[in-house]
Amino acid sequence: MKVSSLLAKEGFIFKEKEPLWRHTTFRVGGPADYLFYPRNFLELSRGLEIFKAEGVPVYFLGGGSNLLVRDGGFRGAFISLSRLDFCEPEGERVRAGAGVSLAKLLNFCALNGLAGLEFLAGVPATVGGAVKMNAGAFGQEIGQLVEEVTVYKDGNFLSLSRARLSFAYRFSNIPDEAVIMAVTFRLKKDYQERINERMADCWRRRKKTQPLNEPSAGCVFKNPPGFSAGALIDQAGLKGLRSGGAEISRKHANFIVNRDGARAQDILRLIDFARERVFQLFGVELEEELRVVGEG
Ligand SMILES: Cc1cc2nc3c(=O)[nH]c(=O)nc-3n(C[C@H](O)[C@H](O)[C@H](O)COP(=O)(O)OP(=O)(O)OC[C@H]3O[C@@H](n4cnc5c(N)ncnc54)[C@H](O)[C@@H]3O)c2cc1C
Repeated sequence: MKVSSLLAKEGFIFKEKEPLWRHTTFRVGGPADYLFYPRNFLELSRGLEIFKAEGVPVYFLGGGSNLLVRDGGFRGAFISLSRLDFCEPEGERVRAGAGVSLAKLLNFCALNGLAGLEFLAGVPATVGGAVKMNAGAFGQEIGQLVEEVTVYKDGNFLSLSRARLSFAYRFSNIPDEAVIMAVTFRLKKDYQERINERMADCWRRRKKTQPLNEPSAGCVFKNPPGFSAGALIDQAGLKGLRSGGAEISRKHANFIVNRDGARAQDILRLIDFARERVFQLFGVELEEELRVVGEG
């Protein structure tokens, strides 16, 4: 039986040949053979079983805010966690589904007087993607507040407690083949107004320095130890450099923006050029922060 018939038989929500530019903040990327939207943990595990049995590669999709999908798209299934979007308070803890947007989570925390995650205001990610990447800003990282992560891996549901998790700069030890389903955060009680003020402050600082009104995937490169990737690219004179519809942002040199119908290949050219130029000039190797996926 065809994969689509198997998915339809289960009553699953999915799309075929879905353009991925619609699902990334870069607004770039060719089609995935399938885009699957599990509504609960069981649908997720059953869907993954079907894809595995049929030899269909899978890729997990959060907010698509750290992804560059190549122009040929993805031969396989993108699994969108967006329907796993519950938030439950448990005293000073919050348990959230992987597909909850950080905007929704932060709002929920503020309403419940729970503080700690405000530094993430303005990061267009989901809980799953942010924990996988250990998203951070203003000297703090989300991993510091994670108490437990529920994942599905190799046919098993696992609960990973703090002791089994490790986080570093834009890194978590959650393996690529595991899908994050839910995360418990340990927060602190505070007044709603104070939480809102801190979030507004983070937004203001972000707006000043980042090109938020143009499609991008945030910082392209990690900061090498002791350096700022943006400062190196700026010092190399690359701000404003264009390739097709893509441009190295004039506002923040570690952002590439989609100015005008950019293709993934335009962005990849700028990434390669910036990496080579910075290495020639300063002898520093830049490593991508964003994830590149799919076929050229
Ligand atoms: C304007 C802008 C500002 C940004 N600012 C920041 C910032 O300040 N700090 C920062 O750290 N990042 C920032 N980013 C980058 C991005 O938001 C983060 O990397 C974020 O963690 C990605 O989350 P996501 O849900 O969008 O994940 P996606 O981009 O969808 O996926 C990222 C990776 O996580 C994996 N993944 C996603 N969900 C799951 C899951 N449920 N289970 C397993 N794997 C999963 C994907 O397979 C992929 O490998 C910014 C991006 C933009 C566009």
